[in-house]
Amino acid sequence: MEKIKLMLYGVARYLCIALVVNIACLYLGVSLLWPVTPIALVAIAVLLGLAFPRRPKGRWQGFRETIVYFLSAFHLLLVGLWMHFVLGYFGMALNARFRAMTDCADRVVIHDNVGFCHAAPTEEPALYETTNKAEIVEFNALFRFAGTSPQCKCCGYPGVYWWRDGKRIGALSIHHGKAVRVEGKGCDWRLTLDSGQHIEKWLKEHCGVSSKDGASPTHLKCRLSRYELAAVVESFMKAKDGKLPTPEELRAQFNRIGKNIPSCPASGKYALTFDEDGTVHVTCSILRHNR
Ligand SMILES: [Zn+2]
Ligand SMILES: [Zn+2]
Repeated sequence: MEKIKLMLYGVARYLCIALVVNIACLYLGVSLLWPVTPIALVAIAVLLGLAFPRRPKGRWQGFRETIVYFLSAFHLLLVGLWMHFVLGYFGMALNARFRAMTDCADRVVIHDNVGFCHAAPTEEPALYETTNKAEIVEFNALFRFAGTSPQCKCCGYPGVYWWRDGKRIGALSIHHGKAVRVEGKGCDWRLTLDSGQHIEKWLKEHCGVSSKDGASPTHLKCRLSRYELAAVVESFMKAKDGKLPTPEELRAQFNRIGKNIPSCPASGKYALTFDEDGTVHVTCSILRHNR
């Protein structure tokens, strides 16, 4: 028993010393460069503690022990959080499931939709699409998970779809650069901190959007309204040789499906633009809604 106490205190003592080194490494950026540093320091501390067991003697013995045990427990907690949030060690099972779902994909499409709970993937415009195998592998590698979390209230933005031989093999929506919701799974999968940042950066560079763009309910409703309006105007014009519907005709068109003319929930004004091939676009006067 005495021997165990000696070893425990020995380890705790070195953990305290390592805590100081760890904080210094974090402050100097060493841990950011080599994220495995905090774990290596703990391992060294444990080995040293086992090699040099001891207990405090003399006055304040109990007090010193309490402080050392408290600080070492605090240190272990910090490193645990680091492993969880930064390294994603506790999300290994999710990482494996994600790889199994996406590894054989031959096409990845990012859709301008607010999660698959509202939309079919082909109904809303694609922001980016690739069939380049190397690029797909690179993109998939951005996703690293730290664990699960309760479902976010919003539907996520944008939607990411993996295809193989013309069949959809996986879909997820991104939540605020922090988590994803995989289609058919009950909870959200939390991204590691740096994974979330890398995905955000990728979305900016390739799609010109941020996963924070589409997640607000107002944003989402405006977007859906605009798509709905554009689709109805487009089908009207197709049927009438390119004639633009008057507001009256538009109202009648929507009445037929039991709806009012869609509008921006934040009272933005809608304007129509046309491509040469007759595609109709609706833009909102609140500019950030169009992003
Ligand atoms: Zn969300
Ligand atoms: Zn709007």
